[in-house]
This record gives sequence, structure tokens and C-alpha cells, in this order.
Amino acid sequence: MKDFFKSVRRHIGRLDAEHLREQYALLADEASFFDTLFRTIAQGIVVLDRGGNVALSNPAARDILGMDPAEAAKSLAIPLGASSKREIEISYPDAKSVEMQTIPMEGATLVLLRDVTAEKARTEEDLAAGATKAVRELASGVAHEIGNPLNAISMNLQLLEREHRGDETVAECRRQVARLDGILKGFLQALRPSRPNLMPGSVAEPLRNCLEALKPELEDRRIAVTLDIPRALPSVAIDKAQMEQVFFNILKNALEAMKNGGTIEIALASDDNEVKVDVRDSGGGMTPEQVSHLFEPYRTSKSHGNGLGLMISARIVRDHGGTIGATSAPGEGTTFAIRLPRIEKRIRALKNG
Ligand code: ADP
Ligand code: MG
Repeated sequence: MKDFFKSVRRHIGRLDAEHLREQYALLADEASFFDTLFRTIAQGIVVLDRGGNVALSNPAARDILGMDPAEAAKSLAIPLGASSKREIEISYPDAKSVEMQTIPMEGATLVLLRDVTAEKARTEEDLAAGATKAVRELASGVAHEIGNPLNAISMNLQLLEREHRGDETVAECRRQVARLDGILKGFLQALRPSRPNLMPGSVAEPLRNCLEALKPELEDRRIAVTLDIPRALPSVAIDKAQMEQVFFNILKNALEAMKNGGTIEIALASDDNEVKVDVRDSGGGMTPEQVSHLFEPYRTSKSHGNGLGLMISARIVRDHGGTIGATSAPGEGTTFAIRLPRIEKRIRALKNG
């Protein structure tokens, strides 16, 4: 389309009336094709101008949101001019889960909406593996087969290390075995998630534990952390060990995104419905393309990464009845936002459901 315009513009001075009519007809055809596409596509499309006002929206956007996109845009806090991806819950007229993605576009912001209610209702295992049950079982069988000898190697290396203190070769072998073990554990967890054991508690506790565990690495990399916890933070139904895993991965990603020191700002807050955790880093940020594939398995930009951390984190948050999302721009850092329902809300939702 762009090329077509360019070529017409280049030649427009030399086109006579007949040719102009011809080009106009071609353009009109093309415009009508894109108009039909825009009006019939199942994905919701909304374009916001610089001020956050709706400049354009298609019927699917209205269907998915269940209201006028201009109305919805006011309450959705859509990040302008940044790439982001998150899930929003819509309660009226029907309860729906919607994936909302934003893409910056020459000053404007393109918002893509997708109804993921049915997708979410499918079993989480199906989603994660994207494979048949047989393949999953085979894969986890193989993973276990690798895990046993790996354990044996690790134990023998420990013995060797005791006998040859300070031997760099043995130490390197131990590090590599530990890495393989980590990959394997992540893989197994992705295949067979365990249900969270939910108890009333505070999100601050697993967060503090993570920061404590990461302290040496944070200091090493000259990363300053600020933690803003309001005095009265409502309880959530939480599996602390699993949420610790979520925070650990998000913080680890944040520090891995900062090569030359920086800051991580963690802010906790709550409203009538949920408890919110925002983790903002001053790292390298992500391209819109990277953001659009966040939370998908095996997407990694790291030579040592496995691309499973965020997928597992998203599933854990989802099992807690919450949502996770991210906003980022290259060179401007990244913010991860986790929302967990307040305990009273969750009980009410379960009763109604
Ligand atoms: P892994 O850390 O093993 O690569 P993750 O699922 O944890 O897998 O993350 C997937 C990818 O998302 C990372 O490889 C990275 O490209 C990107 N990413 C995640 N968090 C951040 C962040 N805070 N800043 C920049 N990029 C990030
Ligand atoms: Mg990670």
C-alpha cells in the first residue's frame, strides 16, 4: 500500500486525466478492501491519537469491550505511545477475558483487542504445551530420564569438589550441571503445573524474600531497589512459594536487562477490588515485536535463557485469579504489573460463579 502511494506520488505530475482516474479507481478498490477487512475482522482495533482520544475503531472492538470504545478508553488507562501487553477482565454485559496489546504508531497508539475467554477456559496444560497428551507424557518421561543421571553426576561432582578443592574444571562442570538442572525443572513445570495452595496472606512477604535472595547479585550489578509498601495492604489468597517464583523471575529479568547498573522501583497499592504490584526497571526495554510475544513459551533473547519464566509466571498469576501485563519501550525500561484480587472479592466471585 505504501509502495503504491509512493509510486503514484512520484509520477503524479506526469499522469493525464485518464491515468489519474485509473489510479483513483485502484485506490478506491484498495480502500474498500481494507475497509471491509477493518469492519469484519474478529480482532478489535482502536486507534488513539496523541491525546488518548479514539480516532478510529472497528465494530469488533465495540463487541469485545461491550461498550463504546471511547467510553472504555477512559477507564482502561491505556499506555500511550508505548508497546504493552496485558489481559483485562470485562464484567459487563458478559464476563470476558480480553488480551489488550498496544503498538506505538507515528504519534498515535494502535490498540489490538482479542477475546481470549474460550482460550483461557481450555485447560492450562493444553495451552502451555500446545501438544497432545501423548507427546506431553513422552516429553516429561524423557525429562525425568535425563534428570536421574543428572542428579547422579551432580552428586559425584560434589564428592570430586570436596577432594579437589578450588579445581576450576570441577567447579565449571558443577555450574553447567546446575544450569541443565534449572532448564529441566522449568521444562517439567511448564508441562505439568501444580495447582497453587492458596492461603490468606500478603504479597509483600514473598516479594521481600526474593529481594533478600537476590541481594548479592543486585549489589554486584550496582542496582538500587526501592520498595514502596503502603501501611494497610489488604490480604490476597496466595501460594507464597509460587508467587515467590513469579517475583523472582520478574526481578531476575529486570536485573538481566540492566548491564550497567540502574534502578528497580517496586510499588504496592490496592483499590476496592485488587492488590497491585508494579515492578519498574531502568533497563534496555523491549521492542513492540518482543512485547507482542511476551508470556509465550521458549521466547528468549538471552544465550542462557529458556524463555519459560514469564509463561510460568503468567500461569501462576492466572491460577491466583489475577492478571499480569507489561509496558515497555526500547531504551526506556520496562514495567511489569501484577494484579491479584482482594480476598473478599475472590470469595464473592467464587460464590457467584
Ligand atoms: P528468559 O529470562 O529465560 O529469557 P523469560 O520468560 O523470563 O525467559 O523472559 C522472556 C524474554 O522477555 C527475555 O528473554 C527478554 O527478552 C524479555 N524480557 C523479560 N523481562 C524483561 C525486562 N524487564 N526488560 C527487558 N526485556 C525483558
Ligand atoms: Mg527470565
